[in-house]
Amino acid sequence: MVSRVIPVDPFDLVIFGATGDLARRKILPGLFHRFTVGQMPEGARIVGAARSELDADSFRKMIRDSLLEFAPKLAQESAALEQFLAMVHYMRVDAAGDAGWSGLKDLMRDDVVRAFYLSVSPSLFGTIGGKLHDHGIATAESRIVVEKPFGHDLETAQVLNADLRANFDESQIYRIDHYLGKETVQNLMALRFANALWEPLWNSTHIDHVQITVSESLGVEGRGEYYDKSGAMRDMVQNHLMQLLCLTAMEPPSRFDPNAVRDEKVKVIEALEPVVQKDIARGQYRAAQGEGSYCDHAGDPDSRTESFVAMKVKIANWRWAGTPFYLRTGKKLRGRSSEIAVIFRDPPHMIFPAMEGHKGNALIIRLQPDEGITLRNTIKDPGPGGMRLAEVSLDMTFADALGEQATPQDAYERLIMDVIRGDQTLFMRGDEVEAAWAWADPIIHGWEETRQPPYPYDPGSSGPEEALMLMHRDGRRWREITRKDET
Ligand code: NAD
Repeated sequence: MVSRVIPVDPFDLVIFGATGDLARRKILPGLFHRFTVGQMPEGARIVGAARSELDADSFRKMIRDSLLEFAPKLAQESAALEQFLAMVHYMRVDAAGDAGWSGLKDLMRDDVVRAFYLSVSPSLFGTIGGKLHDHGIATAESRIVVEKPFGHDLETAQVLNADLRANFDESQIYRIDHYLGKETVQNLMALRFANALWEPLWNSTHIDHVQITVSESLGVEGRGEYYDKSGAMRDMVQNHLMQLLCLTAMEPPSRFDPNAVRDEKVKVIEALEPVVQKDIARGQYRAAQGEGSYCDHAGDPDSRTESFVAMKVKIANWRWAGTPFYLRTGKKLRGRSSEIAVIFRDPPHMIFPAMEGHKGNALIIRLQPDEGITLRNTIKDPGPGGMRLAEVSLDMTFADALGEQATPQDAYERLIMDVIRGDQTLFMRGDEVEAAWAWADPIIHGWEETRQPPYPYDPGSSGPEEALMLMHRDGRRWREITRKDET
């Protein structure tokens, strides 16, 4: 297959927090991968900025070690590794103080794209934005990239937005939700808007309900104290699951343009009905087989934070009235899998004998594992013996269908290249984030007021019994969470 990699324009990418976990695990390996496939032009530079007293060589050594750990196959190509490291610079900069800023200004070039990736605590966004502006480092064309969590609630998100907008225009701000960088998520848009087949069926006349599941098999070991301040609703639903819901439910934008797409997503969030408590099941994993409980991992025996949440969400518009969206996410579940399942209604009149266990048509969009799309169909069971029906799937696993090139690049690398290209389509706009918090806040406040503890569930299960009941009450069932080892 012919290479489809198009090099981006030359750039200076400054990573604040370049010695941190995210930079070492995701950002730098992602950049290295883009380098090895030929997407980095000559003249691209990566500037690490952090508080640590390092010189450029020690920083390069840190990157070499990180790449050997997190991208070992690639990093063994030592020629490429050395060429990549030659693009890397380091500047000691104290976000909160004055050290390093004038050196950073001197390092910047005028004729290339400037991007500033803030891989630091959100409490530093405003300070760093202000310093970049005051020292004349950020220009009107520069881009600023920020990480989750984008706020803890509506109020804190508004403060972060105000902090960023004090020095940058919305068109310069790239809020990362790495789910949007996943190949399948973008494929959802291609599937819906580049095929004539689906759009006529994509409404409540034909779709019975939608299930969105993001299931993890790991618990919160090692980061329990941090996680305990957020919980599944803040950590996953308000951002990642909300993005998946928006892309599934949105109207076709008039063109594939960042603001046209994001306008349609905001309309979905604004059309969400408030979720009543009876339509929510919160859970917390208990201890089992020598492994600690959520509370053990969080370091708080009385924690009421949820490690699981399932809910029924209704969208009050013409397309979706009568078609609920069920969202479910949790830690320490049966397996690690993420998918959007669009479950179609049964035929209005069945002329064949009832089939045991008949499930009907479903379109499954798999984010992980094995990114791909499956369409479940009913056919005749082959052979003699009358007209018996069977279910088969049309399965498109991208890696099989499209070969080597389809091997999904990590979401981060795609998103960083989009920043350099100046394409905001896959980044959250400020009003979108605020709308999602405005929807999530009352749900979370409801829990805080009632102080009802989450329901316990067994590690390795599909969550608490109450989540199953949520579906059973509606005469529906959750899809099985597939069991696959954590990768
Ligand atoms: P980390 O604590 O490992 O690294 C923080 C970095 O910030 C370090 O390089 C440190 O030197 C730098 N830093 C801190 N204070 C500074 C200051 N005053 N001046 C200059 N540099 C300073 O954190 P992390 O895990 O890399 O996370 C960074 C950001 O990304 C956080 O906002 C986090 O919530 C977010 N995030 C992290 C992950 C992840 O997997 N690690 C995932 C999603 C989002």
